[in-house]
Amino acid sequence: MICSECNGGCCRRFPIDISGYDMINISKTLMIDYSYFIDVKIVKEEELEKVQNNNIAIFKFTDDNCQNYHRFCLKKIKSKIFPDILTCMFLQEWNENLLKPPGTENSIVARCGIYECRPQTCANFPVKFDLSGNFPHITNPYKEAKKIGHPGLELCPRDVKNEDFRPFADSIIKSLTLYHYEEKFFKALAEYWNSEPKPYGEFYKYIEKVYSNRISVDEA
Ligand code: SF4
Ligand code: SF4
Repeated sequence: MICSECNGGCCRRFPIDISGYDMINISKTLMIDYSYFIDVKIVKEEELEKVQNNNIAIFKFTDDNCQNYHRFCLKKIKSKIFPDILTCMFLQEWNENLLKPPGTENSIVARCGIYECRPQTCANFPVKFDLSGNFPHITNPYKEAKKIGHPGLELCPRDVKNEDFRPFADSIIKSLTLYHYEEKFFKALAEYWNSEPKPYGEFYKYIEKVYSNRISVDEA
């Protein structure tokens, strides 16, 4: 797999937006408080259109008189290997040179530290549905992402190929379908919340209640 050669560029380069499902999944799996790993970011005026086009759910809170929209991302911390940049707080990084004889080629290794409960956006990248929402396709970050010129921020060690994904096609489609559903659900939830916003302190209880009652029984 291509990601076995990766140094975690996407985990440093992008904000990792999470849904209500991701929040609850990470919190319950790792038994940690939401505040430990969630960064609630204000969406700046100039970012708003892009954020909305990317189907990111955004929320208003009465704490600031509903003046701003907020998005929920994983917290970032200073990278151990590249101290001039930030990385997802869950990225595990080490330098292979520490394990190899001196003089061997420098090799940075980075792996997701919460692989089993990583956010859906991470689990599906770089596969997406097309605009019709029916056909998955693989974007090629190696070719398409702008080169930044920083070793910690470059994406993918080589071109992405169909063969990289073929053995996992069924599980990828299943995971992508769930992701697509969750994206729509969390956006609908945001619209509902924003129609009657409450203080931030009430948000996580609200999310837990909604998610534990996602399947309703029809009333006769
Ligand atoms: S959760 Fe894992 S895969 Fe996602 S950005 Fe963080 S380290 Fe990378
Ligand atoms: S998609 Fe590319 S940059 Fe992201 S983890 Fe995989 S190989 Fe690395």
